[in-house]
Amino acid sequence: MVDYVNIFMSRLQAKNPGETEFLQAAQEVVESLALVLERHPEYRSAKILERIVEPERVIMFRVPWMDDQGEIQVNRGFRIEMNSAIGPYKGGLRFHPSVNLGILKFLAFEQVFKNSLTTLPIGGGKGGSDFDPKGKSDNEVMRFCQSFMTELCRHVGPDTDVPAGDIGVGGREIGFLFGQYKRIRNEFTGVLTGKGLNWGGSLIRPEATGYGAVYFAAEMLTTRNETMEGKTCLVSGSGNVAQYTIEKVLDLGGKAVTVSDSNGYIYDEEGIDREKLAFIMNLKNVKRGRIKAYAEKYPKAVYTPLDQSQGSNPLWNHKADCAFPSATQNEINTKDAQNLLNNGVYVISEGANMPTTPEGVKLFIDAGILYGPGKAANAGGVAVSGLEMAQNSMRLPWTRDEVDKRLNLIMRSIHTTCVECADRFGTPGNYVNGANIGGFLKVADAMMDQGLV
Ligand code: NDP
Repeated sequence: MVDYVNIFMSRLQAKNPGETEFLQAAQEVVESLALVLERHPEYRSAKILERIVEPERVIMFRVPWMDDQGEIQVNRGFRIEMNSAIGPYKGGLRFHPSVNLGILKFLAFEQVFKNSLTTLPIGGGKGGSDFDPKGKSDNEVMRFCQSFMTELCRHVGPDTDVPAGDIGVGGREIGFLFGQYKRIRNEFTGVLTGKGLNWGGSLIRPEATGYGAVYFAAEMLTTRNETMEGKTCLVSGSGNVAQYTIEKVLDLGGKAVTVSDSNGYIYDEEGIDREKLAFIMNLKNVKRGRIKAYAEKYPKAVYTPLDQSQGSNPLWNHKADCAFPSATQNEINTKDAQNLLNNGVYVISEGANMPTTPEGVKLFIDAGILYGPGKAANAGGVAVSGLEMAQNSMRLPWTRDEVDKRLNLIMRSIHTTCVECADRFGTPGNYVNGANIGGFLKVADAMMDQGLV
């Protein structure tokens, strides 16, 4: 089986040169699935693995728009429609200058397994652009979103492909995108999730990824008869996922002591309480400022600018019990992973997608800590997006309490699937194998049922 994995990966590398993040994500999944392919030769002969790594469709397009100075700008837009075996493509849109085909393929690939784990009928996709909303006026963001959707609207729809937000795409961007879709198609449908509450959005959708990541951590802790009460937590990022992670940590009696953005991080030994969290939300969602301002407002907190030349991020080098990486991919390298372990961290619940490098993941697994990989731990966001789709189809909104209960149930069910699959395939406590296998089986069986398509 080791040979099979090696041959498979070298072919994939030859076919997708330079797509580093995609190959990284595939390697991890394929290693987990070797255990399944050994027991199920039928998946091998049906070439399920070879098919699942190939997107069903990749759409790449020009996005021209005009800035406030009257100058023409050109960005590149993408939508990766990865797998629709169990439902319409679903996954976020990312607007960030680092966006390229390899990053979006990694995200779309992860999304297939994540969406399957949620128990909801949703396939996997991802999209976005190398557009940077930072420093742009609302009007510029609107013109960009309108141009982006003018092309994207040919490829998406409530039964085909339903995008949502991701890095750089929040409520403001979803609003502009939805407005343009509605205008061109002349239909008011659930084509996007993460919509405003007064026009089809679901309660708890903004909170869902962060809340879900903390529910997942709490579930992992129950396996050791512990709770989140009194736990000190390191959180990275200060966007959507980080904000609601901090809120749920507070709800469950824990204390978050860090928060960051791409310029640096804050260490607040006293903990980020609700008033400070409200400050962060206003700073990031309304003023669109930098996290440094937190230390100016609360002088006991320490701001440290990010120094890429250091080779590690000091945010991960503080005494704590739990870590919630909630910024971006590969933000925890080997050194950071070792620092986390040295500082006593024994619960890691990934709000971000693939925030830990493969070497870091190996350290966590070997150490036997409670390590919840992103495709399981951050599935709460897409799960509530799935619930938003259900409410849109029924044209009937659920209460906050109803959605939160369903989110909590889904996170518990994902946890159970991970634990059971890890056990069944001989690697108890390994949530990485559990998530990859649990996510795979449902999609693979659907692909087998649907023939060679
Ligand atoms: P936001 O854009 O709201 O926030 C992103 C945060 O991460 C910001 O603080 C940003 O800092 C920081 N960040 C982004 N890129 C980098 C980078 N290259 N280096 C350092 N910091 C960076 O995004 P979200 O909170 O929505 O997403 C965060 C993570 O969670 C991503 O990995 C995303 O894929 C994942 N995720 C999101 C879901 C959702 O529902 N939104 C669902 C599941 C996963 P700055 O402002 O300086 O750029």
